[in-house]
Amino acid sequence: MIPHPPPLSLYVHIPWCVRKCPYCDFNSHEQRGEIPEREYVTALVADLEASLPDVWGRRVTSIFIGGGTPSLFKPSSLDHLITAIRTRIPVNAEAEITMEANPGTFEAERFRGYQEAGVNRLSIGVQSFDDAKLAAIGRIHGGDEARRAVESALEIFGNVNVDLMYALPGQSAEESAADIREAIERGAPHISAYHLTLEPGTPFHRNPPTVPDHDRAADMQDALEWSFAHAGYEHYETSAFARAGFRSRHNLNYWNFGDYLGIGAGAHAKITSLQKVRREMRIRQPEAYMRASLSGKPMREAREVDEAELPFEFMLNALRLVEGFPVALFTERTGLPILAVDAQMNEAQGLGLIERDHEWIRPTAKGRRFLNELLERFIPGDAPARAVIPIATKPSTGPRAS
Ligand code: SF4
Repeated sequence: MIPHPPPLSLYVHIPWCVRKCPYCDFNSHEQRGEIPEREYVTALVADLEASLPDVWGRRVTSIFIGGGTPSLFKPSSLDHLITAIRTRIPVNAEAEITMEANPGTFEAERFRGYQEAGVNRLSIGVQSFDDAKLAAIGRIHGGDEARRAVESALEIFGNVNVDLMYALPGQSAEESAADIREAIERGAPHISAYHLTLEPGTPFHRNPPTVPDHDRAADMQDALEWSFAHAGYEHYETSAFARAGFRSRHNLNYWNFGDYLGIGAGAHAKITSLQKVRREMRIRQPEAYMRASLSGKPMREAREVDEAELPFEFMLNALRLVEGFPVALFTERTGLPILAVDAQMNEAQGLGLIERDHEWIRPTAKGRRFLNELLERFIPGDAPARAVIPIATKPSTGPRAS
């Protein structure tokens, strides 16, 4: 039995982009004509209202507006949305409110408008500062636009994440290191560095570009970890690096197996109520979602998570944290004693993938490097192993910002 519900976050999905990037498997749809911003915000608010009975009496500790490309929306739409959220559910006064932005849609005036609407953290999908690499992965912006967006975001928000990718087509170790160095030198207090993956169903999966092999990508990862450590960043999650005080509070709630409402096309939610964990997913196609939300049925799937699946779900998140997690958190979030995973823990410890004492469990450097191998030990029963392990950090679709 889960003793009490965990902290609650809110994820809002904005599903449109100027153009679909060839590596992207997120629920993002190429913008055709005018985006129905007003109608979409109305649908989001209806979606939120329909979810409120599941979270009565609880406060939202953080909000993340992701996509897609939320920065396609006008500041006035974001203002309307954030005000509507605040009038329907209690949001902590000091809540982190993050929004994703694409440098290709950058205008300083817009950034100021988002800040005035209540956004206090910006996550910028830079990916690289190198024009040729950006073109190779189909981004709509160049290096200079990324530089201007980062500079402006730092001036306006201060609290900024820069998303970078490495192991890009034709990328050398020096080029990857140059991107990391530039993001650090430009002063981003939080940087997320993701390995480019060729996801099934994407153009890159059908026609793969030539990317660095496994060993060269691993060298890039070692080099970037060294650069961040040398520059004083804390490596606190598989792909996330932060200066002191700048860890993402919203993402930490996911990794600590907290709860989140998820509203918007294709958004996922995890809600603990009546001592059970429920997962939900909204309809993915934007127009269908809007219609369904306005008639009170935005859900595509909702299911109670079986008790046997909870240890894997918990580990999938918590073992991404470099510092690991307190033993007590496992019981607090799953309602199960840590003995429920004792055999798997012993095995992982024997293989040098984790270290633990009676209070704390953390992945070792080897466990972090072979995270999938570590996680698959917790898959319940006969479920197929590798295929079910997504390395995702946001509840819409995946890890990278737009
Ligand atoms: S990677 Fe980002 S910008 Fe590109 S299509 Fe996906 S969501 Fe849109």
